[in-house]
Amino acid sequence: MPDSLTTTAPRRLNPVPHTRVTFHAGFWAERTRVNREVTIPTQFQRLEEEGFIEVLDVDLPPKPLVRPINEYGLSMQMFFDSDFGKWIEAASYSLATHPDPAIEAKIDFLVEKLDHAQLADGYLNSWFIRRDPEKRWTNLRDWHEMYSMGHLVEGAVAYFQATGKRRFLDVMIRCVDHIASRFGREPGKLRGYDAHEEIELALVKLFRATGEPRFLDLARYFIDERGTQDPHFFDEEARIHPGGKPFNFGTYEYSQSHRPVREQDQVVGHAVRAMYLYSAMADLAAEDGDTALKAALDKLWKHLTGRQLYVTGGMGPAVENEGFTRAFDLPNETAYAETCAAVSLVFWAHRMAAIDLDARYADHMELALHNGALSGVSLAGDRYFYENPLESHGQHRRWLWHYCPCCPTNLARLVASLGGYIASHDDENVAIHLYAASTIDFDVAGRALRLTQQTAYPWDGDIRITVGAPEPVPATLWLRIPGWCRKAAVTVNGESADVAGATRKGYCGINRRWEEGDEIRLALDMPVERLRAHPDVGMDADRVALRRGPVVYCVEETDNPAPPQHMRLLGEAAEVRDAPDLLGGVVTLAVPATIDQTADWRDTLYRPEPAETVRGTLTAIPYFAWANREPGAMQVWLRAGR
Ligand SMILES: [Zn+2]
Repeated sequence: MPDSLTTTAPRRLNPVPHTRVTFHAGFWAERTRVNREVTIPTQFQRLEEEGFIEVLDVDLPPKPLVRPINEYGLSMQMFFDSDFGKWIEAASYSLATHPDPAIEAKIDFLVEKLDHAQLADGYLNSWFIRRDPEKRWTNLRDWHEMYSMGHLVEGAVAYFQATGKRRFLDVMIRCVDHIASRFGREPGKLRGYDAHEEIELALVKLFRATGEPRFLDLARYFIDERGTQDPHFFDEEARIHPGGKPFNFGTYEYSQSHRPVREQDQVVGHAVRAMYLYSAMADLAAEDGDTALKAALDKLWKHLTGRQLYVTGGMGPAVENEGFTRAFDLPNETAYAETCAAVSLVFWAHRMAAIDLDARYADHMELALHNGALSGVSLAGDRYFYENPLESHGQHRRWLWHYCPCCPTNLARLVASLGGYIASHDDENVAIHLYAASTIDFDVAGRALRLTQQTAYPWDGDIRITVGAPEPVPATLWLRIPGWCRKAAVTVNGESADVAGATRKGYCGINRRWEEGDEIRLALDMPVERLRAHPDVGMDADRVALRRGPVVYCVEETDNPAPPQHMRLLGEAAEVRDAPDLLGGVVTLAVPATIDQTADWRDTLYRPEPAETVRGTLTAIPYFAWANREPGAMQVWLRAGR
C-alpha cells in the first residue's frame, strides 16, 4: 500500500448511526433481540413495580424515604430521574429500528409527567421539586442534580431522533437553559459544576442534535472549570450551605475535581464518573480540535489500560469509592467492577476512536463489550449484576432489581444502539471497528456504500465483506486488525493484500474505487491464549486467564469435575468446542488439567504434603455467560501448570 496512506489517515470520523446498521443472525442479532423483546419492556415493569414512577407525581406528598424492606430495597435515591432518562434512551434507540406503539406510549406517559413536573423557570428534578425545593443547587458535591438532568437530556435527544417528537426535547432545552442561567463565570452565577459528571457529554449530544452552540459552550464551561478553583468550589458550597449530607467519600479525586482536567494523568476516584468525564472530554476535543484535552486523555488512557483494568475490561476494584485504588490492585473475588463502568469504557473508547483511528481504542471497546459489560445482564435479559467479580464461591447471584438500578438501563441503552459502535467514516475513509454479521449503509461524500459482513464472530475469525455500490465509491477502507490477533490475512477479490505494509495504528487500509460485488476476506487467527498478569498484580501470580479472540473465559463449577480452585491447567493445547445448545450457543474450551483430591485431608487444614492429584479435563465457558445456571464457584484466573 502507498505511504500516502499515513498522511491521509483521518483526523475525525463520524460514527455510522445504529439506524444504518442491521445485524444478521448471529451473536449481536440475538443480544439486540433479547434487549428489545425482554430487557427494555421488563425494565419498565420493574420501574413501575418498585415505585419509581410515582416519584414523578410531584403534586402528591412524598412517600416516606425508607420503603418497606424487600428483597432488594432500602430507600429512595435522589437520582431516580436518571433511570427514566436511560430507559427512555434505550427504548428510543430500539424504537428507531423497531417501531413499537406500546413502548412509545410508555415514553409519552413519562414525558407527560416530566413536563408537568418541570418548574416555570425550567428546573427539572423530581426529588427536589417534590421534597425540598429550597435546597436545589445547594449541594452539587453530593446530590447529583445535573447528573439526573444529563441523563434526561440524553433520553430526550434519542427520543427526538427516533420519532421527530419535540416535546421532551423542548422540556430539556428549557431545563438546560435554566442551568445556563445559574452556572457560569458571569457575575451573579455559581461557578460550579456537578460532582457526578454526565451533563457535559449530554450537552454535546444536545448541541449535535440541535446545532445550537450555546449547549456546547456550556459543556466547555463545565469541563474547563472543573478542579480549577482555590478554595475548591465544593468547599465554598459547603461553607455557604452547611448541614448537607456528609461528604460522601471525602476527597476530590473521588469526583475527578482535584485538579484541572488537562492536568490529570491518572484515573482516580469513582470509576463511572471518571469514564463519563473522559467521554465528555473526548467529545469536546473532537468539536474544538483541542490537542491539550487529547493529550490528557492519552495519559489517562495509558494509566487505565496499563495499571487499572481487569482482563475482562471491568474496572474499579473497590466498593468504598465505587472506583479506583492503587495501581495493580485488581482483586478477583471482591472486584466491584460495576457494569456501568465497563459500559462507559465502551462510551469513552468509541469517542477516542472517532478522533484518533488507533486500534487500541476499539480493542478495549471490544474487550469491555464482549466481557465486563455483557456479563451485567443474564442471557434471558431480565436479571442483572451490579458487580462483576472475576472469582466467586457461588455467592454472587443475578438480581431482578436493585436499590441503585443504574446498571440495567445503562447496558440496555448500549445494546440498543450497538450498531452505532461498529463503523465510522468521512468523505474519503470508511473504518470498521467491530466485526459482526451485519449490513452497514454508509454515505461516503454523497455516494451509497453498503458493506455486508458474513461471519460467526466472535466465535470465528473469518469475515467476508461484500460491497454494494450503485456507482463506484473511491475510499480507503480501514479494517481493524485486533490487538489480540497475531496473524491476519486480507484478500480483495481473491488477491492478497500486504497487511503489514498497509496497517497504520492497527487498521489495515485498502484504497480503491469500490464497486458492486467486490469482496474482501479477512482471516484473523484466533488461537486460545493463556494470558498472564503483570508481576505486580499479586492476586494473579502464577495464574493464567484463557482468551480466544475477544472473548475472555472462566471456569464454572457446574461444567467441571471439581470446583475451579482444585484444578490446575496442564501446559497442553486447549480444544475448542462448538456448543450450540449450551448457554444460548457458545464456544467452550476443554483444557487438560490436574485435579486436587481432598478426601485424604479430612479435618486437616495444613500439612507438608501437597494434595494428591488426578488428571482430568477442565471446561471453560465465556465469562459473559457465567451465573446463568445453578450457583457454584467460578474463576477467571486459573492456576497455571508447569
Ligand atoms: Zn451502575
